[in-house]
Amino acid sequence: MAFFMVPPRGRGLILAVAVCFVATKADGAERHAIARQVPIPPPPKAAGSTSGLDAPPSPAARQRQGRLRVAGPVRVLVVAPHPDDETIGAAGLMQRVVELGGRVHVVFVTNGDGFRSAVTKDARGRSVSQDDYVAYGERRHREALRALAVLGRGQITSAFLGFPDDGIDDLWGENWLDSRPYRSPFTNAIRPPYRHSPSGIDYSGMDLRAQMRQSLIEFAPDWIVIPDPRDFHPDHCAAGGFVLDAVAELRAGGHANLARAQVLTYVVHYPEYPGNHAWQESIATSGICATTVANERLAQAAWTALELTSEEVSTKRQALTRYQSQLRVMDRFLALFVTAREVFGRLDGSQITALSQEYSTRWREHRRN
Ligand SMILES: [Zn+2]
Repeated sequence: MAFFMVPPRGRGLILAVAVCFVATKADGAERHAIARQVPIPPPPKAAGSTSGLDAPPSPAARQRQGRLRVAGPVRVLVVAPHPDDETIGAAGLMQRVVELGGRVHVVFVTNGDGFRSAVTKDARGRSVSQDDYVAYGERRHREALRALAVLGRGQITSAFLGFPDDGIDDLWGENWLDSRPYRSPFTNAIRPPYRHSPSGIDYSGMDLRAQMRQSLIEFAPDWIVIPDPRDFHPDHCAAGGFVLDAVAELRAGGHANLARAQVLTYVVHYPEYPGNHAWQESIATSGICATTVANERLAQAAWTALELTSEEVSTKRQALTRYQSQLRVMDRFLALFVTAREVFGRLDGSQITALSQEYSTRWREHRRN
């Protein structure tokens, strides 16, 4: 993909993985699966265990992670690039907010329908069609609803936008305009093929940005939880960029709620995350989407951790079991996130504005080329 910068020398493992990832993207297949493999965590100790991840971080690492507290009823908007990301990243936070009388709304950007190896595996040797990918997206939708029911006891609301899995970064780039919609290589769709998706959407950056704006205005969140801009998965970092862009625009337009809203980020695909605390040093030198863009501003983002109760950890584990389609292909990866704490980056107002400008500039350049 053109928007991935050629990394400078000397970044070792992280950038070696990034180069591999970019090459995979250029091949146009299995980005999702490969991205799932990007983190290089230690193997779980045993099936069903929390894989040693409940082990506390070192005192130094803990010191660098302030404590996140939910002091009372707050409205939290969680943006998930794919069904399961919300549970991986923020299951404990969502439970806590509901418990304290707050509101949680989850926006699923895609239905996760582009997981080729999983769809192929499910087909058991039969040739796979576009309909299989759509059916897979519908299945993941149902799984997400079940997971949210576990986490929020029926009180978490959600929206499924149905944008193209593995295509969110393309929407920032060459498929920004409605007149040049993205065509999913999986479902062959240029607009959401799902009956639960909002009507009138094309697979364009303009339409995704409009949907993000609408979600923010309608829900008026106190906290906005987004994929971290440094996540190695293009859908994740680009989805984060779309939200930041919409937040910055609304703030500039005088939306009082958005001016006060806190923005928290969560990481899913990053080398050594979450199994080894080395990620915290290396991510400080990473920029947007595994580039060096905005790395200095992002390095200043504070990390904060929500300590989960054993019941919250148990419920998170239970919610992940609702994602049977994902457990079939990456149960060990999902188990890594069943930990006693959830870590979030906290972006301040100047970072939100600056990052969205850098995102926009970066992708405007890309669109011109
Ligand atoms: Zn994801």
